[in-house]
Amino acid sequence: MKKIVCYGCNLGCGLYFGDVPYFRKNSPVNSGKICRFGMKIHRYEKVLPKVDGKNVELDDAIAAAAKKLADVKEMAFVSFGDVTCEEQLAFNKLAEAFESDVHTCIPRFIGANIEKIRQSKEIITFIDPYTSYPLILRHMLHAKKNGAKITSYYWKKLRIADESVILNPAEIDKIKSINFGDSLVITDLNPLNLDFSNEIIKSCNAENIVCLKPFLNSTGASLISDGEKSIYQIFEEIKEKKIKGLYLLESDLGIVPDDTLMAALDELEVLIVQQSMRNALSDRADIVLCGDRKFEGKGTVLNFEGRVLENEGGTEGIKILTDILKSVGEEINYDKMHAEVLSKLGINEIDEYIVPKYDIKYKQREAEIKNYEGDAHLVYAYNPFMWNNVIDRDFVEISPSLVESLNLHKDELLKMTSSKGSVAVKYKINNAMPDNIVLSPMKLPISTDIVTPVNFKEP
Ligand code: SF4
Repeated sequence: MKKIVCYGCNLGCGLYFGDVPYFRKNSPVNSGKICRFGMKIHRYEKVLPKVDGKNVELDDAIAAAAKKLADVKEMAFVSFGDVTCEEQLAFNKLAEAFESDVHTCIPRFIGANIEKIRQSKEIITFIDPYTSYPLILRHMLHAKKNGAKITSYYWKKLRIADESVILNPAEIDKIKSINFGDSLVITDLNPLNLDFSNEIIKSCNAENIVCLKPFLNSTGASLISDGEKSIYQIFEEIKEKKIKGLYLLESDLGIVPDDTLMAALDELEVLIVQQSMRNALSDRADIVLCGDRKFEGKGTVLNFEGRVLENEGGTEGIKILTDILKSVGEEINYDKMHAEVLSKLGINEIDEYIVPKYDIKYKQREAEIKNYEGDAHLVYAYNPFMWNNVIDRDFVEISPSLVESLNLHKDELLKMTSSKGSVAVKYKINNAMPDNIVLSPMKLPISTDIVTPVNFKEP
């Protein structure tokens, strides 16, 4: 059995994999536990190599990609970090060869580690640990058992919190007035909430922030790659024709809440995707290069603490990049990439039980946090399934009073309308929900952002 790391989030839970995932008791992150996503990591349809809609041999897809890279100027390269550091570095070499950078869409930042959570006496959380980063909950529960007070700022009340402050989309900027003191703050940094997390990170001492991220190696990728464009900037530049070609490495731009943005991809001269899972993005790409499944790439990954973890597997992904680089006379291989990664990290060998020291300054962003208009809002409760564009639960959560005020009967669907149209969805009543929020664990076609103003009238 191979020793692997779950790609569901940047916690980096350790597992063994044979035909299915197994517990790895001595993993320092999850101590043998695994969440629902972790148990299902292998259940996906592998993509096939493709050029212009036709299935081809991988070598032919690689040759087509090399030709397009030589022909199309203004290429952009994006990798959120769902690959090993070695593959990310090889992708950097490819981008450099075509005078570009790799954008991770998540800024570089490493904060506090797991031990700090366990030892904390005051915790302020902005995430729902039960759904967003499930295995962090174990460490929060340990702190709570030892007397920690937990305060949550979230879209609904959290069971683990001693005090729950419910965020109001119309007044999100109120988080500016929170006094964090010496509390340990748990938040997340993802491609869609940068303004929100920026506000929190700049208000706290970096050593007091646990900064979770949604993709397995988001931390390692951001240390290796220097591109600074946000996901929204990339869409904007495609629309303005400043970006004419896009190469996405295991990065599904379909995570954006407003799926009409995806139409911008049709403006490109070429869309190359290198990924393992078949999805809507691989179906729309001009060239599809299929590498190792996400949990099967050999190499190192860094979890949210900067802990260096080893993933056993193959090097198909790096081989594809190596073959394309050959076309411009560059020679790389896995061993070279691995040595360079260790040197960049300042370590000689991998020890998952020691978190190396990092001195990383978070680059402040200018963007202001924004409030959302309207009296009721659809809000996304991001979780590993949603980041991977997989529907796990097909219902939204709403309060009992909302059900009563809309006179909804059992088995009836909740109807919502936004500026983008209407939708009817299954719902579940949750006493922890406020009346003005609909919390969704799945992407809905009416959303315009991670928070979308909605009403419940028939259109
Ligand atoms: S908490 Fe994250 S890394 Fe751990 S098993 Fe779940 S999805 Fe995977």
